Amino acid sequence: MCHRLRNATFISASLHHHHNSTSLLRSPNKTRVWYCTKSCGAAAAAEMGRFECSTRSDDVIVGDSELLKEKKSAIRNVGPEKFQVIADFDATLTRYWINGQRGHSSHGLLKQENVEYDLKRERLYEYYHPLEYSPTIPIEQKAKLMEEWWEKSHGLLIEGGLTYNSIRKSVADATIAFREGVVELFEFLEEKNVPVLIFSAGIADVIEEVMRQKLHRSFRNVKIVSNRMVFDDAGRLVSFKGKTIHTLNKNEHALDMAAPVHDQLGGIDKSMDDNAALKNRTNVLLLGDHIGDLGMSDGLNFTNRIAVGFLNDNIEKSLEKYQQAFDIVYLNDAPMWGAVELVSQLFASGDGDL
Ligand SMILES: [Mg+2]
Repeated sequence: MCHRLRNATFISASLHHHHNSTSLLRSPNKTRVWYCTKSCGAAAAAEMGRFECSTRSDDVIVGDSELLKEKKSAIRNVGPEKFQVIADFDATLTRYWINGQRGHSSHGLLKQENVEYDLKRERLYEYYHPLEYSPTIPIEQKAKLMEEWWEKSHGLLIEGGLTYNSIRKSVADATIAFREGVVELFEFLEEKNVPVLIFSAGIADVIEEVMRQKLHRSFRNVKIVSNRMVFDDAGRLVSFKGKTIHTLNKNEHALDMAAPVHDQLGGIDKSMDDNAALKNRTNVLLLGDHIGDLGMSDGLNFTNRIAVGFLNDNIEKSLEKYQQAFDIVYLNDAPMWGAVELVSQLFASGDGDL
């Protein structure tokens, strides 16, 4: 059941709305008008034919609404059996701003036993982060640099000491929160047996801990493809498993090293889809916050892809690019309600409008 915020107006997200980009910039502190309680089940709301938990229409941009409509009806006609969701984690599933502060990433929130090593990793960030966004470094060279950065910083995590307990504590102390609607999105997809792959250049163990602490539950349809830690019997980090996943190589080629999240959380013991079955789900909803996130569907021979981009920063500079790259762009740290509405339009029973 959704509730209206007193004195607040809900504006239903119009996916066909085309915007004049000059009216898009809002102050980050402007009061949000979306609101929804935890009990607002996407499926229930969709069945009842109404969706009050919405994104402000000013925060949604659709570059080509006809194309989007075509993709939606093509995906709906084939059904949920052929559908999967691929999502980035940091600043896509999680919020960019939390109470006026930048939200932590799954790498950034980690505090080691030895503070010196936090500083060492910070120094690596200062060196490599500008290189990651440099427009002049060729992509192959950049990929090498990213690999170097990730491996050095993973090395420091091992060398400086990290225990599972410190991950738990780091997450508890972190500034990190999921966007509103993420739980409802996962729930709806779980009910429809649609797999969700979270592709992250972060750390799987940290992401799982964030899910445990912030969502208090696991989803049998959610699989995390990210860097996986190995701990010894005393709970100390000793190595990382498999190939390093950094920002420039996270895609379905990396699927083989994925471990389903419920392996760690307990519960259902069989993953819903094996990796081969995933490749047969050729209709995709992709969620990301960087243009590079579009690469997450590389390795998948998709038939239809709806790409949703959260444009969190440098809005004026990046909007045009995002609008070309993504079918739907969300601004101003919008919640996940638009994606919830989208999947419920695709797969709710009955013939709703697209
Ligand atoms: Mg991200």
